[in-house]
Amino acid sequence: MNIKPMLIAAIVSATILASCGPASDQEGEHAATQKVSMLEGQSAPVSLQTDYRLISLERLQTAEQVTQACEAEVSSLESAIINLENFTQQPSVDNYLKPLNSQFVSLSTMEGHAGTLAATHPDEAVRDASDACGKSLSSVTSDLTLSRPIYEKVSQVDLSGSDSETQRFVEKLLVTFRLSGVDKDEETRARVKELNDEITAIGQEFDRNIVDDVRKLELSSVDQLAGLPEDYIEAHQPDEDGLIIISTRYPDLFPFLTYSDSDELRFELSMLSSNRAYPQNEELLQKLLKARYELARLLGFRNYAELITVNKMVGSPERVEQFLAELTGYTEEAQERDYQVLLARLRQDQPDAQRVELWQRAYLNEKVRKEQFEVDSKEVREYFNYNATRDGILTLIQDMFGLTITPWSTDTWHEDVESYELRDGEKLIGRFYLDMHPREGKYQHAAAFPLQNGISGQQLPLVTLLCNFPRGDELMQHTQVVTFLHEFGHLMHFLLAGDHDWFNISGISTEWDFVEAPSQMLQEWVWDYDTISGFARNAEGEPLPKNLLDKMIAARDFGLGMGTRRQLSFAALSLNLYNRDPKGLDLKTMTDDMTRKYTKFEPLEGGHFFAAFGHLNGYSAIYYTYQWSLAIATDIFTRFEEDGLRNVETAGEYRDKILGQGGAKPAAELVTDFLGREISFKPYADRLSGASKEKIATQSSE
Ligand SMILES: [Zn+2]
Repeated sequence: MNIKPMLIAAIVSATILASCGPASDQEGEHAATQKVSMLEGQSAPVSLQTDYRLISLERLQTAEQVTQACEAEVSSLESAIINLENFTQQPSVDNYLKPLNSQFVSLSTMEGHAGTLAATHPDEAVRDASDACGKSLSSVTSDLTLSRPIYEKVSQVDLSGSDSETQRFVEKLLVTFRLSGVDKDEETRARVKELNDEITAIGQEFDRNIVDDVRKLELSSVDQLAGLPEDYIEAHQPDEDGLIIISTRYPDLFPFLTYSDSDELRFELSMLSSNRAYPQNEELLQKLLKARYELARLLGFRNYAELITVNKMVGSPERVEQFLAELTGYTEEAQERDYQVLLARLRQDQPDAQRVELWQRAYLNEKVRKEQFEVDSKEVREYFNYNATRDGILTLIQDMFGLTITPWSTDTWHEDVESYELRDGEKLIGRFYLDMHPREGKYQHAAAFPLQNGISGQQLPLVTLLCNFPRGDELMQHTQVVTFLHEFGHLMHFLLAGDHDWFNISGISTEWDFVEAPSQMLQEWVWDYDTISGFARNAEGEPLPKNLLDKMIAARDFGLGMGTRRQLSFAALSLNLYNRDPKGLDLKTMTDDMTRKYTKFEPLEGGHFFAAFGHLNGYSAIYYTYQWSLAIATDIFTRFEEDGLRNVETAGEYRDKILGQGGAKPAAELVTDFLGREISFKPYADRLSGASKEKIATQSSE
């Protein structure tokens, strides 16, 4: 459910998603010739290169090719840094900023490709080479953003006649340099670079451990699958040893926790899942916290949370704390109310039960929805087979924004992967891949991975969705349909913001704590009957009945209080690991404390959830961004509620004023431009406290 935060972005902190890929319309030996001329440039003051180096998947098929391409990129960039540092003319937009921009573009293109291959490629050697490439790129990026001469030359460029995007490019770039530590002494800068390298390496290992550690529950009889949907049982037949294997991968895990009638087995599977990457990630996380703390101190911040929030909408860890406290207040009653409903339902099965346990939550939730709201998710999923859902989402996007999506014939890294082109009228505006089904060694969550930023007149945006959904005519959970739309929201944001000149304006280069808002808002369309009746059909071809959707909407906010509190516990964990000196910090204790403080649930005894909580690397202190963005998304959606969800003019204005702008203005300004007023968190507060529940239900079912 997230956007892949690029490694470079962790350093070039102004851009979350700087990343890029094949120069779409340029082919040939472009890259090689450019490299030669750049090396020649060292001896005499010549003009700097503004071309983009060609990096494409076609040339990244084997581990050797990845390594070679990566080494070429690193050496090109090293030469470019020398040229940029030794540039003797008066630096200007044309002679200096454009060549510098092209370095970031090429760098992020290589990084986007390496990051995507590391998460997807079926060949382990390619994944390893891609990880290694990520490290080298991160290291050379440090050299660039720690270069005092380049920083000074950028500062000297006369911007008086420049347009607003160029000015913003420089403004964001200088912040990036300063947050990198460019203004520190040489010894400090050297240590900063060491730490950046270390953080990248630890983070990669942390992530890799999570991917690699798949645990398995072994069942000896089909009877132990009682409660599960038929197709799940069919897909989990005994193997040659008579064992039924349930893994901790999401497509196995979530249905089991939702439907299995066995309290013991749900507990066992929960335990397996909450010990993934443990113990190996405990020490790694300690090291990561320590390195980031040292880095923050060197750069003049009190702690890493302060460093990472300084260029976000929130601005400080204190504002995050305040925000979490506000949401805690809004959810107090709803959480208590919902919890008591679950407890009462549990007591029907276990009359002596004193409390609801974590492994019972999804199961009881499902029971309550079915018995009290008459929503049976097994019935609902009959209407969402993968292929039809995918087509439905592509149609929605085309209708909403007046765009065309057609298949794109190109090579990919696996036969499951589909490729598409996006057009506005005749004009090709971007391309994307859908890699949507689970397989060995692949990234296990759902995320958008940018490959290549769109740069006006130079290259088209290219992005991949990585998900782990059922395939073909297999059925999806409704929650998976929501996730699909969510991730597609990231994809569209990235593609529609692909027509800018500067790397840190193009794509999803807005503040990180705004990034989720467009995706969270797009999820709302899954509750719109006009939208889903177009594709939600069962095997007999019958559309999802309107009264079933009405019941789903009525049940929608049941559990919202509890669910939000769980999110707050994650956000608080993420913040509290990073807003202090981690010396002596006990990860298990902190994790359990946050669970107790924010939720009604007891932490799983013997569980080590933090070890497989990948966001603690990628998002560090800022998991709150999901809730912050959601508050904004809820506010933006009020305009669609007023104008109509299928209102193409409103959608067009949304595209122009928010999505298409990328990082051209601060996010708060973009939202104000669209809404015609400042952002308000009241709609979200109302929803959490249940005040607008009826209003939402009525309006969504219109
Ligand atoms: Zn997301």
